[in-house]
Amino acid sequence: MTVTTQALQDSRIAILGYGSQGRAHALNLRDSGLDVVVGLRAGGPTAAKAAADGFAVATPAEAVKGADLVAVLTPDMVQPKLYEEAIAPILRPGAALLFAHGFNVHFKAIAPRADIDVILVAPKGPGHLVRTEYEIGRGVPCLYAVYQDVSGHAKDKAMAYAAGLGGARALLIETDFKEETETDLFGEQAVLCGGASELVQKGFETLVEAGYRPEIAYYEVLHELKLIVDLLYQGGITKMLNFISETAQYGDYVSGPRIVDAATKERMKAVLKEIQDGTFARNWSEEYKAGLPNYRRMKQADLEHPIEKVGAQLRAKMVWLNEA
Ligand code: NAD
Ligand code: MG
Ligand code: MG
Ligand code: MG
Ligand code: MG
Repeated sequence: MTVTTQALQDSRIAILGYGSQGRAHALNLRDSGLDVVVGLRAGGPTAAKAAADGFAVATPAEAVKGADLVAVLTPDMVQPKLYEEAIAPILRPGAALLFAHGFNVHFKAIAPRADIDVILVAPKGPGHLVRTEYEIGRGVPCLYAVYQDVSGHAKDKAMAYAAGLGGARALLIETDFKEETETDLFGEQAVLCGGASELVQKGFETLVEAGYRPEIAYYEVLHELKLIVDLLYQGGITKMLNFISETAQYGDYVSGPRIVDAATKERMKAVLKEIQDGTFARNWSEEYKAGLPNYRRMKQADLEHPIEKVGAQLRAKMVWLNEA
């Protein structure tokens, strides 16, 4: 059965936030023939962009008024206040509230009204890819989920929204808020962002402390990571192994498990447990409310790491990098 936008054909869709996801969602849904209005703070950084793309830009509260579906695509930490001020008092009963990440609903920072549908659609790609794939007639796979079904059509709405993004041209995968939220957090913390960046920094430090030139160390532990990640992305570990030398493969087999070992996996489990039991969400919300003191300090340390200095110098000489 092909999934279409039918369930949202006569609906007004309010997109709150016009960043990475918001812009791609708004443009794709409009090009799919749906009625889209964008809700943003007046004078906010992306309002001009939405207007230039031809959207009617209203305040979040104005956009929610008259909407049948409200997509909350602002940063996660501003969503609870936005919900209290601009959504909860205004959204009509039976309408749908949609998220692209289940964080606030799953960890109960937002307790949605009992008389609305609550759904999730999360494209498995950044906004620019969601847009460019749509433009060439393809799509990015989407996760979708239902948290609360009041209308009896919550699932149809989520699938229609995903179809409007182009996701149904590729693949729609059903999930639930708990699974989407916990796996997303684990992936970015343990592997994609936290794990990978720490691996790069520690590898760089090891080489430089042993007397090797920082420029060479940069290429070996950071720059070339893209080649490997591209192979993984296209064809998994199988493709990577087929493309690297026998020497690199043998080194992978004997040294990889010494770097990321059973103890690392135990610590991954500890990170996952703190995500599951709400410790991470509580700490992050408290940090945000306290004005981000530790966040800023840790970010500054990353920005001042020696690999950033040599990296900036080297990237300036690789003209193609600045064309993206
Ligand atoms: P973003 O930071 O790129 O954009 C946020 C937008 O919200 C901007 O337009 C900003 O001006 C606006 N905004 C900020 N505060 C606001 C407020 N108080 N009221 C109204 N608008 C406000 O955000 P993003 O990366 O697109 O993330 C949006 C949601 O999508 C999040 O829930 C995120 O977890 C989820 N998500 C993001 C990606 C991704 O690739 N970036 C992928 C999947 C899911
Ligand atoms: Mg993710
Ligand atoms: Mg995430
Ligand atoms: Mg780090
Ligand atoms: Mg090499």
